[in-house]
Amino acid sequence: MAKQDVVADNLQKAFVCPKCRCKDAQVRRLFVNSAGFLNFMPVIFYSVTCTLCGYTEFYDELAYKKQTEQAAEKIRAVQEI
Ligand SMILES: [Zn+2]
Repeated sequence: MAKQDVVADNLQKAFVCPKCRCKDAQVRRLFVNSAGFLNFMPVIFYSVTCTLCGYTEFYDELAYKKQTEQAAEKIRAVQEI
């Protein structure tokens, strides 16, 4: 069974469309091949699309995960005290 995608889950939960205020979104994981020399790693983006009007936001997976891990560490630090 595939591991649950926490990033996609968080993005979907946090989404509020700035255009129409709809809270229903579809999240997709996109692999983009970079053209950089000796760099064969694809860049991974998440797109969050409003299901009502189609407005779409993009998130860089690395940056988003870093930010959520830092937030999780802060919560852990508080709980340890
Ligand atoms: Zn919308």
